[in-house]
Amino acid sequence: MTPAPRNRAKGSPRSKFGAFLRAARLKKTRTRELVFNEIFSRSPLHLNAAEVHERLRAKGHRVSLATVYRTLKLMVRSGLASALDLGEDHSHYEPETNRPGHGHLICLSCGRVREFEHQELRALLARVGEAEVFHMKKYSLQVFGACRECRDK
Ligand SMILES: [Zn+2]
Ligand SMILES: [Zn+2]
Repeated sequence: MTPAPRNRAKGSPRSKFGAFLRAARLKKTRTRELVFNEIFSRSPLHLNAAEVHERLRAKGHRVSLATVYRTLKLMVRSGLASALDLGEDHSHYEPETNRPGHGHLICLSCGRVREFEHQELRALLARVGEAEVFHMKKYSLQVFGACRECRDK
């Protein structure tokens, strides 16, 4: 028995996006699908709208930046992606996963972004939530500084 391709599985991000579009009475256009694929390929992570647009153009797709931007906003509204503030004047986007949360180490000189997770940090934030009578589901944390390469320069 061959397992069904992962992106066809029920409850997959792709099928959720389809359901979201249907519920919002929006068409599942080629562009929306292309933008979705760029974000969910996760390589590289944390693309911004202009980068998604560039990548699609480089692959020969004629899409407008405005459409890419609107599609990314739709993905955030559907809960399939989150927008990140990496200290620039635009948002970066990453797919929502089942991970309970992660942080980003953002280099202020080269702009490189690394992800990290830490058990103790999660426990600490959960305690903060308890004290504030707030149920934490996940967290996103941005830490700004200098990466190893830039620090050693
Ligand atoms: Zn750096
Ligand atoms: Zn991330």
